[in-house]
Amino acid sequence: MGLLDKIEGIQRNVVLSDFTTFHMGGPADYFYELTDVMKFPEAVEACRGDGLPYFLLAWGSNVLFSDKGFRGLVIRNLARNCQAGAPVEASGEPGKEGYRPAGQLIEADSGTLLSQVIQTALKNGLTGMEKLMGIPGTIGGAVRGNAGAFGLEIQSLFEKALVYSPGEDRVKEVDRTAMNFTYRHSSLKENRDILLKIALRLIPGDSAAATEEVRQIMTYRAGRHPQGYSAGSFFKNPSRNSIGEGQSAGQLIEACGFKGEKVGGAYISDKHANFLMNDGTATMLDVMELYTRIQEAVWKKFGLRLEREVLLVGEHEYIADIFRAE
Ligand SMILES: Cc1cc2nc3c(=O)[nH]c(=O)nc-3n(C[C@H](O)[C@H](O)[C@H](O)COP(=O)(O)OP(=O)(O)OC[C@H]3O[C@@H](n4cnc5c(N)ncnc54)[C@H](O)[C@@H]3O)c2cc1C
Repeated sequence: MGLLDKIEGIQRNVVLSDFTTFHMGGPADYFYELTDVMKFPEAVEACRGDGLPYFLLAWGSNVLFSDKGFRGLVIRNLARNCQAGAPVEASGEPGKEGYRPAGQLIEADSGTLLSQVIQTALKNGLTGMEKLMGIPGTIGGAVRGNAGAFGLEIQSLFEKALVYSPGEDRVKEVDRTAMNFTYRHSSLKENRDILLKIALRLIPGDSAAATEEVRQIMTYRAGRHPQGYSAGSFFKNPSRNSIGEGQSAGQLIEACGFKGEKVGGAYISDKHANFLMNDGTATMLDVMELYTRIQEAVWKKFGLRLEREVLLVGEHEYIADIFRAE
């Protein structure tokens, strides 16, 4: 009997397909749902002690699990406390880069859904994150990937976070400078730190106008995004200094004629070419075949290597993204 078996609530052989928006995934050997972020260290340390890989899952809107499953522990974050916090003073010099106006914190467990954070903010008369409404997933997932929409990235609201560092086995507070935010990137993609609690800086404002903006954004998204199983944009948009400058990944893929292209149960949406979809029967092999075809075609036509945005996790000969216990 290993250390993991001693943790209350650990489940065995849990099929993962219902826990991601792509709805693909075989069984995880071990599965653990937590509602208290302070339970992360115990689970991670047990994996390290047992020599098993672990993977932190939130809402699963940026992850594809292999249909062969995961030979380790999947920890699903269901910790969702969220409330308005203390007022914060302005920092930096007005008009200069990095200036942040006075505001108020909104504090959330990392498993809180982004939509819940926005609603809580609006109820407390705090505005500034409306443009992020409609991005599926948790505030933890959004901060890790510096999620953004309509010109707003979560980094501009980020104030501080409580993180657990498995390497150091300690909980510490980090500020914005430690996060190294860039486009769809933060330092958490380089280290193995786990966000436990997050504080965003918002501004007291007109809740009624902000609520109307949220409504408009939701209508826009409903009309533009394909319905069905997907993980959102499969590829990142090319960086500003690359050859495909000015063109989104979706436009490049569409120009290569991939709209509607199908391999097994995986297909490219005919509404949005950067959405790789699952008809309910996709395997990781189907996804990899389609993904590789797209990368090769865009490379041939534009001399540009599209970078994947979604994470591929689990047992499969192609997969290299999984987190491993050290
Ligand atoms: C229909 C659709 C539309 C989308 N639109 C957008 C969009 O407009 N803009 C955008 O940026 N993204 C978009 N996405 C992608 C996705 O919603 C975001 O990447 C989201 O922030 C992921 O959050 P999650 O909770 O689902 O994370 P998950 O998918 O569960 O996890 C993603 C990664 O984050 C890590 N992670 C999660 N929580 C933590 C934590 N607490 N600490 C450390 N690491 C953690 C996981 O280990 C994993 O590596 C869209 C996705 C879909 C399906």
